[in-house]
Amino acid sequence: MREFLKDKIFGLISEAADEQQQECYVIGGFVRDIFLKRPSKDIDVVVVGSGIELAGKVAAKLGKKAKLTVFKNFGTAQVKHNDLEVEFVGARKESYQRDSRKPIVEDGTLEDDQNRRDFTINALAICLNKNRFGELVDPFGGLEDLKNFVIRTPLNPDITFSDDPLRMMRGIRFATQLGFYLESNTFDAIERNKERIGIISRERIVDELNKIMQSRKPSIGFVLLEKTGLLELIFPELIALKGVETKDGVGHKDNFYHTLAVLDNLCEQTDNLWLRWSALLHDIGKTRTKKYDKRLGWTFHNHNYVGEKMIPEIFRRMKLPTNEKMKYVQKMVTLHMRPIVLSEEEVTDSAIRRLLFDAGDDIDDLMKLCEADITSKNLEKVKRFRSNFQLVRKKLKEIEEKDKVRNFQPPVSGLEIMETFNLPASSIVGDIKMRIKDAILDGIIPNEYEAAKAYMFEIAKELGVEIPK
Ligand code: ATP
Repeated sequence: MREFLKDKIFGLISEAADEQQQECYVIGGFVRDIFLKRPSKDIDVVVVGSGIELAGKVAAKLGKKAKLTVFKNFGTAQVKHNDLEVEFVGARKESYQRDSRKPIVEDGTLEDDQNRRDFTINALAICLNKNRFGELVDPFGGLEDLKNFVIRTPLNPDITFSDDPLRMMRGIRFATQLGFYLESNTFDAIERNKERIGIISRERIVDELNKIMQSRKPSIGFVLLEKTGLLELIFPELIALKGVETKDGVGHKDNFYHTLAVLDNLCEQTDNLWLRWSALLHDIGKTRTKKYDKRLGWTFHNHNYVGEKMIPEIFRRMKLPTNEKMKYVQKMVTLHMRPIVLSEEEVTDSAIRRLLFDAGDDIDDLMKLCEADITSKNLEKVKRFRSNFQLVRKKLKEIEEKDKVRNFQPPVSGLEIMETFNLPASSIVGDIKMRIKDAILDGIIPNEYEAAKAYMFEIAKELGVEIPK
């Protein structure tokens, strides 16, 4: 263990704690991550005494290069040194009230402190005092759980989760990030205590959801959320996608599991959190648009537009940002059908130009989303879709090089139209502008100033707009 505590700071913490004659341990995520071989720069130190005093001493020993910040209200202090961040806190005992996840805190022993931890793998501590330096204190078998890939609470899970229901989200998040299993008692207790999630703020919940979203395989988390019943409470729109209906012997795919497959596919291609959210929400409008037609079977007409419209309400409720990030997700959801439709029909230049115009700089992200959307089990079909998408990509490149419509700026401005024909700002100016844009996108005229201007005169004539003398 000592080899992981080589940094000079551990030696100084050890010295300082011995001088104060207090037990001192490094604890929690840092210790867990040593065993998971995920080196971490965030170190939590717990001292059976005052964390603030110990931090002060350590900072003094480190000298000028250390930065000490004290959080008096929390009884904690942080020392930053090089790229390490060490949090110091006194060992504490916690007791909870029913309606709050804020505990009543008293000074306690190491054992008390380990008892209040969320999972056995997060309760591991390593002693830093000189005579026990490097000794692992593992009262709940956390090391064994790490070896067996298990998430388990140190105490009765019903108490651990009821005390602080955020731990249910954290447990599922760790299972997702680490690829671990929820031990069955722990799982069952989440199911039993799910309603307690109601006392947790949306911000905290979405923090955990975002960590699940940023994992390598987010479906692990969403399946656990669904099976424990938490998803129904925090994200009912996703649950509504679940299930298969059959009429006249015709079924449709389960849109919940399809969505998760798309999300996992996409996560292999991108770390972009908002593109990942777009995948999670791309079919969210399917529940509201589902219809059965005797001739066509199951249809979800306009589910992309309906989905786009559902997003602001979802983002507001979930406390996700309702800014340009949300607009981006809306745009991806609206447009997610376009390349698919294109790849199924003949790929015309005009359709490609329109797609480039609508997607702008996000065209590559959109193509990634569409490719991830291929989840058919029919390999022939998959092969055909993939090669069609390749063709779409090739065409996109060719047309963009030729016509530069990706960040389309009207070659003739509204102002120029107004001045040329002595028109006030009016709908007719908008009409002329739109017709020029359409002519360019449809390939009637090139995306150039002279051609656009000549075309402007043509339309004006057609519309009966006089050229002033
Ligand atoms: P990550 O940095 O990936 O979130 P972490 O385990 O380091 O993982 P922190 O939130 O920094 O997470 O928590 C540090 C430690 O504090 C945890 O390892 C755990 O021992 C304890 N802890 C944090 N939150 C809780 C909680 N809600 N209930 C009980 N213990 C907690």
